Amino acid sequence: MVANELINIIQRKWMKLRLEPIRVFCLHHVCEHFDADTMYPCDWMALDAFKKKISELRNQGYQFISLTVAYEHLKKDWFRRKKYAVLTFDDGYKSLNEVLPWLEEQQIPATLFINGKYLDGKSYRETSKEQYLTYDELFSLTNPLIEIGHHGWEHTVATEMTEEELLVSLQKNIEILSSHPRYIPFWAYTYGIHDKNSDVIIKHTNLIPILVAGSKNYQWKENIDRELM
Ligand SMILES: [Zn+2]
Repeated sequence: MVANELINIIQRKWMKLRLEPIRVFCLHHVCEHFDADTMYPCDWMALDAFKKKISELRNQGYQFISLTVAYEHLKKDWFRRKKYAVLTFDDGYKSLNEVLPWLEEQQIPATLFINGKYLDGKSYRETSKEQYLTYDELFSLTNPLIEIGHHGWEHTVATEMTEEELLVSLQKNIEILSSHPRYIPFWAYTYGIHDKNSDVIIKHTNLIPILVAGSKNYQWKENIDRELM
């Protein structure tokens, strides 16, 4: 047991010597004004603060890449010195209309994790004032810098669903999103909450799981973890 732990420590240290971690950030609303009627304070970042953070990361030597490219690096790199960062946005809020044009201007890729149900312009999570991208808005995002992944049909925690409910949620979302020209088979768990059962189900769908536990990614380890920005 002690020997195994020692081997693990040495392996981890060796991995960290070889590989620069890839940082994947999780964002929600990035826009100029906070609106208490439609946003949760913890989900909002001021556009100015966001631009400053991007500039800080660039000054630290980070290059922004897409989630798909990051995944390829995590799977294949044996040695990595370059610093890479990825931006992802959960829930598909309408406020994306404010930040995405700026990201495009900056040639920075972004991945959106979408709940298919709310694209109809009528459905919502908790209050009818919440504003989401509509189906037409989402499907007009065809820029190669954009990627569209899953966040479930509704914003339901995977571990609170039965196996069948989780599968239906996945299938309904796949049905609506997979025809998007920028579709990617990645699944961001709601609040990053998962367990062994949900992991097995996701594995069967061949979707790549994404968490929000705050750690950095060195190499592919069954999922990609994200930090809040
Ligand atoms: Zn979410």
